Amino acid sequence: MSRNDRVVVVGGGHAGLLMGLALAGHGIDVQVVEPAAPAAIRKAPPDGRTLALLAGSILQLEELGLWAPLAPYGAPIRRVEVLDVGSAAKVSYREEDAPGPVPFGQGFENRVLRQVLLDLFLEQAGRRHLVTDRVSAIERDAEGIAVRTEGGTRLPAGLVIGADGRGSGLRKLAGIGLQRWSYGHAALGFIVRHPVDNGGAVLERMRKGGPLATLPLRADRTGITWVETPERAKALAEGEPAQLLTELDEALDHALGEPELDSPVGVWPLSGQHADRYVAPRLALVGDAAHGVHPIHAQGFNMGIADVAALVRLIAARPDEPGSPDVLRAYERQRRGPNTRSIWLTHGLARLFTNELVPVTRARGAALTLLDRLRPLRRFAIQRGMRA
Ligand SMILES: Cc1cc2nc3c(=O)[nH]c(=O)nc-3n(C[C@H](O)[C@H](O)[C@H](O)COP(=O)(O)OP(=O)(O)OC[C@H]3O[C@@H](n4cnc5c(N)ncnc54)[C@H](O)[C@@H]3O)c2cc1C
Repeated sequence: MSRNDRVVVVGGGHAGLLMGLALAGHGIDVQVVEPAAPAAIRKAPPDGRTLALLAGSILQLEELGLWAPLAPYGAPIRRVEVLDVGSAAKVSYREEDAPGPVPFGQGFENRVLRQVLLDLFLEQAGRRHLVTDRVSAIERDAEGIAVRTEGGTRLPAGLVIGADGRGSGLRKLAGIGLQRWSYGHAALGFIVRHPVDNGGAVLERMRKGGPLATLPLRADRTGITWVETPERAKALAEGEPAQLLTELDEALDHALGEPELDSPVGVWPLSGQHADRYVAPRLALVGDAAHGVHPIHAQGFNMGIADVAALVRLIAARPDEPGSPDVLRAYERQRRGPNTRSIWLTHGLARLFTNELVPVTRARGAALTLLDRLRPLRRFAIQRGMRA
């Protein structure tokens, strides 16, 4: 193997580990650089964050041969119920609207999914392909590109992939600009245990302060993502757990029985962002390093999965030259359009469901009622909604 057919992935979060795993599966010489050591990732305490993988992403993971080992660690979503609290209109998406083994998608605990991806990567690629360090520079020469780490290691490659998250240092080092906007909201994330079986349901409550959604992790364990103003999110997270749980129970119309807290309560400020380009010579961005969205439509990592699937397909067709301009041009062409549409769809939903003007509330209610009554419309919404 030569330097040109080696790929270095910067970042060992969900997107970076998935990328490393998929490339190793294609026999590509890949190294993943991540500052957190495997032991720290394995021992990471719960942070309350959960993640829905949509049915479209599961098909892509199946194509990469990676769904079977991931599936046992989450719970399938069998029903989705959206209630617009302002207009009291409701739409229920049922299993028969979305035939297939995983009708809508699957819920995971964020840290568990990362731990499983890490173990699969180490098993597939081997320990020496994971470098525990932080990338601090990129260097280019006539033959290729190299990354340099804070620990002084130089890793030459034919292609460097930035999977280093929203604050991507690689994006900055490559001189790629960023559009960024704030939603003026924050998301609370936590997990509850409850006496009533969740039945695999996602319950989404579109409330004045922001959406609140459940995600099944097991029959008696459910993830909560709850959007509020930053002040109220802070007050709820730092206040008495009993107050938080009572409000949750009421918002869900007691659907889970009396919930108990089963994780810390995390708070994430909500913003959106989009990199001006996904590629530079011998460099590509994937996952949150390229785009970040509001969690209302569970698109974040699902968009990252679609990035990984597209780039892996292109690299697998040119394993001798993964960083060739053709590969990079095709990647940008294939992913920018769909990601831009997902960003705007998510942006539109986030705005629509926090708008309390009477005509907007009425139109929203009418649209949901229509969806609930018309099966073809529901099927169309599912087909669009269950992919990134
Ligand atoms: C409340 C909330 C709910 C969400 N719900 C969903 C959902 O239901 N479905 C969904 O698809 N998405 C969801 N998301 C989004 C999802 O969590 C993210 O899109 C996803 O985790 C991003 O993964 P990533 O690997 O791209 O980035 P990150 O997870 O940020 O990983 C980046 C990695 O890069 C490493 N790194 C950083 N700098 C360097 C460096 N210089 N050198 C080497 N490594 C470096 C970091 O240590 C980190 O491990 C949600 C987000 C929030 C906040």
